[in-house]
Amino acid sequence: MYAIAFARTGGIDVLEPMDLPLPEVGPGDVLVRVLACGLNHLDLWVRQGLPIQIPMPHIGGCEIVGEVAEIGSSVTSIAPGQRVMIAPNQGCGHCRECHRGNDPACPEFSIPGEHAQGGFCRFAKAPARHIIPLSESWSPVEWAAAPLTFLTAWSMLHRHGRIQPGDDVLVQGAASGVGSAAIQIARLAGARVFTTAGNAAKQQLARDLGADIVIDYNQHSVADVVKKETQGRGVDIVVEHVGKSVWKDMLKCLAHGGRLVTCGATTGPKVEIDLRFFFTREIEVVGAFMGTRGELDQVLKLLDRKLLHPVVDRTFPLAQLREAHQYLEDRKQLGKVVIEVP
Ligand SMILES: [Zn+2]
Repeated sequence: MYAIAFARTGGIDVLEPMDLPLPEVGPGDVLVRVLACGLNHLDLWVRQGLPIQIPMPHIGGCEIVGEVAEIGSSVTSIAPGQRVMIAPNQGCGHCRECHRGNDPACPEFSIPGEHAQGGFCRFAKAPARHIIPLSESWSPVEWAAAPLTFLTAWSMLHRHGRIQPGDDVLVQGAASGVGSAAIQIARLAGARVFTTAGNAAKQQLARDLGADIVIDYNQHSVADVVKKETQGRGVDIVVEHVGKSVWKDMLKCLAHGGRLVTCGATTGPKVEIDLRFFFTREIEVVGAFMGTRGELDQVLKLLDRKLLHPVVDRTFPLAQLREAHQYLEDRKQLGKVVIEVP
């Protein structure tokens, strides 16, 4: 099976075309012919090397959309030919955490393209319970742009951020995958949305997605604009994934009792904390990592009804996966980058 994979972690040049064995389909498994797979910063981090065990040679890509090619002997819920998505967040389904609906805490929690083989190849397999039938509401490329970013942004705003109608929400990086999803989810929840964007194209995208106040961080201090627009109060929630370079400024943006929810650190993970600032202002910093299967089903329903919209910047054919990694690394994107598999 044709794949673009890597046999050792490192720079973009470790990605190579490979001929790898077709995944073996067990009785409860479904084999999917991949049509499209979203690319995420997670794929860059896995390629660069994380302190976790990954199968080698490794195939990245966790937002897998395709058609069912084959089903295991005990699978009754899915039929060959169906258009499906493979859930990016896979709990075991039978442990205490999974039963509580907190699958990201499952000891066997698995993400395709990270702990297991992903979708930058012709065929991917998953247990039938992680196979989600898709409607015709969106194309395979559009569906593949959605699950990880909308799931993460949903859990950040709703579960961790406890968003309420009328809240003020600041979303970092309007044109990023998580940013473009979070703007829409915050608007849908009835919040006023502040966001940051560093050039005219990204600012236009932010407005098109429904952001109320778009801040050019090259021209203005984000905290100054937030304070001015909120009469000195600050925002209830900051959706953060940039890390070190914006940390201090983002804390300044928070209202008393506000929540900073973080799911990434693209400019560096180590930051300084002055505890006095935390307890006197009763602020919370909350980590978010993907979300639950229930949350995934919720965002897919809202996407299906077109209350939320995938934001596709551009696609690359699978053979150009290296170029796609470079494009994301250079932070050029306006929304999501999706890999098309011929
Ligand atoms: Zn479990």
